[in-house]
Amino acid sequence: MSSGKTIFKRIIDKEIPAKIIYEDDQALAFHDVNPQAPVHVLVIPRKEIRSLAELDPADAPLIGHLFTIVRKLAEELGLKNGFRTVINSGADGGQSVDHLHIHILGQRPLSWPPG
Ligand code: 5GP
Repeated sequence: MSSGKTIFKRIIDKEIPAKIIYEDDQALAFHDVNPQAPVHVLVIPRKEIRSLAELDPADAPLIGHLFTIVRKLAEELGLKNGFRTVINSGADGGQSVDHLHIHILGQRPLSWPPG
């Protein structure tokens, strides 16, 4: 990549395509390119926060907003039987894109504990 942008920042800036299903002034949501369940959506802030480990207390309202989007999308996507939200942080957490994102996974039973 020539710029220092993450892949998600490039999606925010519309430099690369994504199947965007929700957008507002603070956030967007789009289908994961490599879905791990029949529904696998990512909700991300427009603000470049690298991970939950680098969250500023001032971002609390933004995080609350992201979860209201999760709730709305879970309903719109028909996840009546339940769903899972995941935020991977850092190397041990399995984070591969350094832009905070909430995974929404659903429409199949999901086992616990995760790998
Ligand atoms: P992480 O592993 O950081 O928690 O999650 C990153 C997610 O982003 C992965 O599930 C991966 O499939 C997804 N992803 C990576 N690159 C792209 C992309 O270019 N477009 C979309 N839609 N998803 C991506």
